[in-house]
Amino acid sequence: MGKVYLIGAGPGDPELLTLKAARLIQNADVVLHDALVADAVLDLARPHALLVDVGKRAGDRRISQQDINRMMVQFATTVATVVRLKGGDPLVFGRAAEEMEALRMAGIEFEVVPGITAAVASAAQGKISLTDRDKAGAVVFLTAQHKNGKKLTDLAQFASKRTTLAIYMPNGQYAAIANEAITAGLSRWTPCLIVLNASCPNQEMYWTNLDSLRSAPRIKSPSLLIIGEVARPQRDSTSTVAQQATQTLTTQSTDFHSPLGRAQ
Ligand code: SAH
Repeated sequence: MGKVYLIGAGPGDPELLTLKAARLIQNADVVLHDALVADAVLDLARPHALLVDVGKRAGDRRISQQDINRMMVQFATTVATVVRLKGGDPLVFGRAAEEMEALRMAGIEFEVVPGITAAVASAAQGKISLTDRDKAGAVVFLTAQHKNGKKLTDLAQFASKRTTLAIYMPNGQYAAIANEAITAGLSRWTPCLIVLNASCPNQEMYWTNLDSLRSAPRIKSPSLLIIGEVARPQRDSTSTVAQQATQTLTTQSTDFHSPLGRAQ
């Protein structure tokens, strides 16, 4: 019977992989990976290892979570080392609970190898401290996603001046999120940072505030939204976008200067 490793591949930059993750990928017989995992990370696998993109769509249909669970179990009964490779950290919005449950049920040994989660990677790119003690006493990881038509998180439960909100999968819901945060009592001038493709060559950053976020057009995925006083651009927030948004913030104009429409 083989062993399954649930491994975090980090946010994209292959250098942000842990040494342990790299070693295990190099030794894997089978790698079941998500769509977001960078080619440079997959290239670490041995030439004869079987790589399966389980994040891929087959026609209109994504490979279901049940299929992935089944594949992990099946491979673990035939080969020694199965790597289940996920973007970021496997235990943060990674559906790892379902996969660990399937492995437990099948009596298969498994181990979890953490990775750098998108919130932390995005903060690093923006050079902001998620828990700057002058501005925040807590950071909350939440998602704007829905499951079976039901919202997974109630933002109002967490919104407070001294809490940093790190919102995963904000896809296209910026206006709704901003309205919810303002209704929950946050100032409409609360700073926001959106990081698209954090740590990747095609990374983009947008510094803004809740008020401007209400008129934000749709931007592509994967992006992460940080809301809170800690997300105020600093003197070294060098991108043009950052400079424009700094002006937006200081003049408290309602114009949304970030060229969100340009995001690819
Ligand atoms: N397990 C992952 C999260 C998976 S959910 C982690 O720990 O990071 C997928 C969401 O993560 C994306 O929609 C996006 O919100 C965020 N994400 C993942 N990689 C990202 C990146 N490089 N830049 C910005 N956001 C990212």
